[in-house]
Amino acid sequence: MESTLWLYFAADVARSVLELLRSRLAEVFPWPVRLGQQIGLRDDAFVPSRSQYRASLILKRLGRLGPAGDFRLAVTGADLFDAGLNFVFGEADALSRCAVISLNRLQMEYPGRPLTQNLYRHRVLAEAVHEIGHLAGLGHCPKPTCVMHFSNSLVDTDRKGPDFCKDCRSLIDGS
Ligand code: ZN
Ligand code: ZN
Repeated sequence: MESTLWLYFAADVARSVLELLRSRLAEVFPWPVRLGQQIGLRDDAFVPSRSQYRASLILKRLGRLGPAGDFRLAVTGADLFDAGLNFVFGEADALSRCAVISLNRLQMEYPGRPLTQNLYRHRVLAEAVHEIGHLAGLGHCPKPTCVMHFSNSLVDTDRKGPDFCKDCRSLIDGS
């Protein structure tokens, strides 16, 4: 049976972002993309001293939503972190086929890089494709312009954009 990619979303995610992801992810990956339900972030994933949510706890919860065997991406405006990292743009667990991305830091600007609508959409898509790439079995790619390159900062994200390099693309197409 063919797998479906489900998009779950927190209340603070704009409809336009979900529409962008729904249409573009279906072009990138070989699965139909469907909009799931709105989700609340679990209180026990929130760490008040950091004002951040622990990404792995959100993934754990996500794994219990929807049919087994399907892929799940949660989108939130909340800031995420995980063990050993000040923040994460997103996180994926290939075993449970669950991923989460945060929009929180994607609206930030740095010198020489004013935020435009296009840049924002570019970043959202890059982070989503990266995490779902992990769900499809891809690891990190050494090429800085490939979407599967690890992002430490927005500079990395803006350098790589939402596209796979030739090698990663062929792995996706062969899966
Ligand atoms: Zn990664
Ligand atoms: Zn690559």
